[in-house]
Amino acid sequence: MAAQREWYEKDFYKTLGVAEDADAKAITKAYRKLARESHPDTHPGDAAAEERFKEVSAAYDVLGDEAKRKEYDEVRRMGPMGGFGGQGAPGGFNFNVGSDGLGDLLGQVFGRGRRGGGASAAAGPQRGADVEASLTLDFVDAARGLTTTLHLTSDAECSTCHGSGGKPGTQPKVCSQCGGRGVVDDNQGFFSFSSPCRVCGGAGVIIESPCPTCHGSRVERRAREVQARIPAGVADGQKIRLKGRGAPGRAGGPTGDLIVECHVAPHPLFGRDGHNLTVRVPVTISEAALGGDIDVPTLDGPRVTLRLRAGTQSGSRHRVKGKGLETAKGTGDLIVTTDVQVPKHLTDEQRAALEAFAAATTVSPRQGMEG
Ligand SMILES: [Zn+2]
Ligand SMILES: [Zn+2]
Repeated sequence: MAAQREWYEKDFYKTLGVAEDADAKAITKAYRKLARESHPDTHPGDAAAEERFKEVSAAYDVLGDEAKRKEYDEVRRMGPMGGFGGQGAPGGFNFNVGSDGLGDLLGQVFGRGRRGGGASAAAGPQRGADVEASLTLDFVDAARGLTTTLHLTSDAECSTCHGSGGKPGTQPKVCSQCGGRGVVDDNQGFFSFSSPCRVCGGAGVIIESPCPTCHGSRVERRAREVQARIPAGVADGQKIRLKGRGAPGRAGGPTGDLIVECHVAPHPLFGRDGHNLTVRVPVTISEAALGGDIDVPTLDGPRVTLRLRAGTQSGSRHRVKGKGLETAKGTGDLIVTTDVQVPKHLTDEQRAALEAFAAATTVSPRQGMEG
């Protein structure tokens, strides 16, 4: 318990002017005398007397209680952290009885009250939760990227108090325990320990009139709109993390992220392979056999010409440079797969031409295929 490092150095015996082996009766007697002498009722407006009264009371609170006195004696005997230092450590002590009064102080010293309870176990700034949303994108929008408005229901900054947690028109009070810093230091000699302030939960302020909507939580579950920039080339199933667009943090903690899972609708012609686009293009038997220029569609521009070599096979792949997706990672290509079409109906002229082709074909493509 960190506070013991402060507590043990305070010489309560000296404060009460009794010996360390004084019995309970002697301690009570000494306390009553000193308390009477320094009581605020007999010294109105005397700050020094008030301070003295607090010190005397603090000392008696420990020494007048058998269990606390035993603990106090043990810690003093062992020294802080199992024997380091001892009395008169450099810098001495700064056992400040603040305006919060004795109750708070001793509550901390003995680990009861706020320090011991579980209610404020989660003190300190906490990052807000990540919020997940899904977005269905048109193929072309996914390819080009777009800025869109997401409609989602999630924890968000309270719209009544705009995240202050206080009733509109009221001001939060600066926390007197930590002076608005949100952390408290345990300074002792060479050491300084910081921990989140238990009184304000690390926020640095105390809300005396809570917001009627969020009851001081600063967070409200509500429908909201978020503008999201979806980068070009987002893939189906890809998750985009939008920093700081999730649920608000607590006690000054950072806002969480918004994670948008993208679903990309299929395109009737084009497919995707990374930042390349794919397309199947039908070609005639003669285009495939004789070769030549064919026109192929592009996603968002005029058709381009692709030169086929003579003897192009069905299912062969051809690359059109720079006609894929333009993404942050670079520009992809258009991958064209040829799909040789066998005509289902022939005109008389076509039939005659193919019969001539057949007559000129003397070698069977199945020659050499023995079962
Ligand atoms: Zn509110
Ligand atoms: Zn505080």
